Amino acid sequence: MLIASAGLWRWSQDYRSLLLRINSDRLEWRARASHDDLTGQLNRRYFFDELPVQIKQHQHDFRPAFLFMLDIDHFKTVNDNYGHPVGDRLLELYGKEINGFLRKDDLGFRLGGEEFALVIHDASALTAVEAAERLKNQLGQLSVVDNHNNISRTCSIGIAELQRADDVHSWLKRADQALYRAKDQGRNQVVMSDYAP
Ligand code: GH3
Ligand code: MG
Ligand code: MG
Repeated sequence: MLIASAGLWRWSQDYRSLLLRINSDRLEWRARASHDDLTGQLNRRYFFDELPVQIKQHQHDFRPAFLFMLDIDHFKTVNDNYGHPVGDRLLELYGKEINGFLRKDDLGFRLGGEEFALVIHDASALTAVEAAERLKNQLGQLSVVDNHNNISRTCSIGIAELQRADDVHSWLKRADQALYRAKDQGRNQVVMSDYAP
């Protein structure tokens, strides 16, 4: 009887640790499925799943939200001149810096290559632009050293404030247009989109 209950106890302990392991594996796989390995940012797939949710919540709660589209300037020349691994090291640094910049509830995504999107909550147009300027300056100061070369790049940021009538397409489009304007006007700058309903 004693032996049987000891066996049962050991079995229940094994079963419990198996369940814990399955749960932690599940969490790890879920994190991997939604994150980009290199930069630690949320990935593109998660962006397109999450953006409609964010839009709905903010429109429902009347909470302001800003979409930053951020693209590193002339990044291709990093790979061309110093090699892909050096480019990867810079991207990794950008990811860490963006993580440090985001406040609780803000979201950071790597959309692909050297393009990032940020959803910034509870700001005014002025504080959103100020924050984007700060981030632009922080990223511009990051550098990696390769063969005694200090390699850094500037970035351009387009911002669009979420409007009542926005859906994913319209919000993204305005932020993208603002980013293109920042590129057109000479890069290394922040542009806020106009809203003309
Ligand atoms: P622009 O200022 O107009 O944005 O110029 P750009 O050179 O940054 O833009 P372009 O789209 O021409 O080049 C983007 C480059 O990003 C091309 C590609 O080699 C590089 N890239 C994309 N993904 C990765 C990556 O994961 N690692 C590295 N090292 N490079 C990447
Ligand atoms: Mg670029
Ligand atoms: Mg790009």
